[in-house]
Amino acid sequence: MSNRRNFIKTSAMATVAVALQSFRSNEEEEPIITSGKINKPIVISTWNFGVKANGAAWEVLKNNGRALDAVEAGVKIPEADPKERSVGYGGRPDRDGRVTLDACIMDEFSNIGSVACLEYIKHPISVARAVMEKTPHVMLVGDGALQFALSQGFPKENLLLEESEKEWKEWLKKSEYSPKANIENHDTIGMIALDSFGNLSGACTTSGMAFKMHGRVGDSPIIGAGLYVDNEIGAATATGHGEEVIRIAGCHLVVELMRQGKSPQKACEEAVSRIVKLTKNRNKNLKDIQVGFIALNKKGEYGAYCVQGGFNYAVNDNSGNKLIDSDYFLK
Ligand code: ASP
Repeated sequence: MSNRRNFIKTSAMATVAVALQSFRSNEEEEPIITSGKINKPIVISTWNFGVKANGAAWEVLKNNGRALDAVEAGVKIPEADPKERSVGYGGRPDRDGRVTLDACIMDEFSNIGSVACLEYIKHPISVARAVMEKTPHVMLVGDGALQFALSQGFPKENLLLEESEKEWKEWLKKSEYSPKANIENHDTIGMIALDSFGNLSGACTTSGMAFKMHGRVGDSPIIGAGLYVDNEIGAATATGHGEEVIRIAGCHLVVELMRQGKSPQKACEEAVSRIVKLTKNRNKNLKDIQVGFIALNKKGEYGAYCVQGGFNYAVNDNSGNKLIDSDYFLK
């Protein structure tokens, strides 16, 4: 790590009664035990596959690793799993039969990296991290992202597996593109973590909406939409219809609401209510939309909310690893 130096910040968060000191982790430092009740380390992530992914992240966090390393290690689990058909290897293709992946990552220093519409690379999250750490840019797309990945030594692999190809051929018979809520044609892993040093990071990775138009990019690789981290305040990540998340700059909004003093739960609820309002204003049917947010603040408090039932998220802290059904708006 090039900039291995102490990093001291005083939290301005109004709701935190005590000043929290957060130090950048490295091998020479011990975690700082801050006063006040802080639930750390903790990692939370979207959907069922979050349980396994959190397990990998927890291995890093429990050994006083950095949240950034934890979230990368965590989301790589579903990325590499061919049975998870909405993320990474084995993901469903676009309508032209091409598997195109979106991912982004953000650390405690507001370093960011992202790739969109990346083909042939099993771990887009690690390419996003390489964009963050090794380029002067924050986002690479399509062929440029692939060329960069190959130049960094990432292997070129076929990501389209038999099951997904079969489903795509079936879909081609009607070729109807109408994403439905909670139908298993999408799902993103978004993961946010607070490490023992009190630092936050996040990662988000997906193959996006199944059978999308070639070149379509959702919220997941867009910093501020599918993921946002502010090390003074908290972090948020999203899943569901990316177009709706982008419309409200969703995760940035959730973090800003926490900055105003809202709990992670209330911040997620208010972001969902924006989506509800805009959907009504645009005369669209809310029943066709699903968006879920999860959020975590500097105290290790967390929350989640979504438009309609069916969304769940995984939480791993010192009390164990559990899956929680998110509360929702449309009852
Ligand atoms: N948000 C992702 C996208 O729009 C898909 C999902 O999370 O379900 O690409």
